Amino acid sequence: MSRVRVSEVVRPEILAASPYAVADARGLVKLDAMEAPTGLPPALLKAWQDWVAEADWHRYPDGGAQAVKAGLRRQFAIADSLGLLLGNGSDEIIQMLCLALARPDACLMTPEPGFAIFRAAATTAGMGYHPLALDPEDFSLDPQRAVAAIEREKPALVFVANPNNPTGNRFPRETLLALAEATPGLVVIDEAYFPHSREHCLDLAGRPDNVAVMRTLSKAGMAGLRLGWLVAAPEWVDALERVRMPYNINVFTQLATRFALAHPDWWQNLAASLREQRLRLHQALEAIPGLRVWPSEANFLLVRVREASAVHAAMKEAGVLVKCLHGQHPALTDCLRLTVGSEAENTRLLEALTAALNRR
Ligand code: PMP
Repeated sequence: MSRVRVSEVVRPEILAASPYAVADARGLVKLDAMEAPTGLPPALLKAWQDWVAEADWHRYPDGGAQAVKAGLRRQFAIADSLGLLLGNGSDEIIQMLCLALARPDACLMTPEPGFAIFRAAATTAGMGYHPLALDPEDFSLDPQRAVAAIEREKPALVFVANPNNPTGNRFPRETLLALAEATPGLVVIDEAYFPHSREHCLDLAGRPDNVAVMRTLSKAGMAGLRLGWLVAAPEWVDALERVRMPYNINVFTQLATRFALAHPDWWQNLAASLREQRLRLHQALEAIPGLRVWPSEANFLLVRVREASAVHAAMKEAGVLVKCLHGQHPALTDCLRLTVGSEAENTRLLEALTAALNRR
């Protein structure tokens, strides 16, 4: 028997949490995680190989990732007066924010149903967590109720994914401003799905000064790179730099991001084609009797079917992996989240879904 028991040393809330589970997608059409169907176009492969040949394996990467930041500022018109923080995916930025703001009694608030990592990061950092309930019918956020909840709980940190995952809708900018006005801490507008939405709120970063905007390359066809960034007033970024691990953006991520920023056409065209595919998929889903599909400004569609768990299993058997959300939140009962794929993948998805629905 071991002398030290893990369960007596590790914090109970950590032991009560579940590790982030990633489904085994080998051999399946992978439409469960909002990845793009294609990556770097073959025509750019040679140019990328020339870049990667320059990579320094034996040196630490540029700790400030200066060239990456300059490229992001140029590409997304981020003013020099604003601070810019980089993370190993926006997940790491969420974690940095929780670590920096987790004073005793500090709490995090975010709309639910929402992105699970907000709660997980709060728990890891020892922060309290309070959801802001969305309307279960259309997933809108009642600004008055949200402001009242914020005034009651006084959160150090509010995350609003806009568009929201897994519901796909955006919240009006007036609502975001009302939340910022009421919050005694930082409000982070998480624009992970920006490439698939026409609108954004980058102009609100730092104005008011407790608003930050977070983005990622993940939903723009580069999930493998793990690069996210936060735009905020410089004082916030200065504080967060103190919890950032040195060299969190590795040599290859820095190089690949710079390469992507030097060749923006392919990933911009990819996002445009996925928006077209979303429309086609949405229309096809609407024509399926007994299925409910919500409007989406992201690269996924939320649907409700009868017996989602059984439909999910049957689709997997037919070779198509989507995400089953049944049981995750009462408002997601019998819901599936379908990532928008290539035309061929979406056709496979529709075939598998129709067959699964007709089977029962
Ligand atoms: N925010 C939202 C709303 C997301 O859905 C996701 C990924 N599913 C992330 C952040 C994390 O993205 P990244 O890959 O940059 O860590």
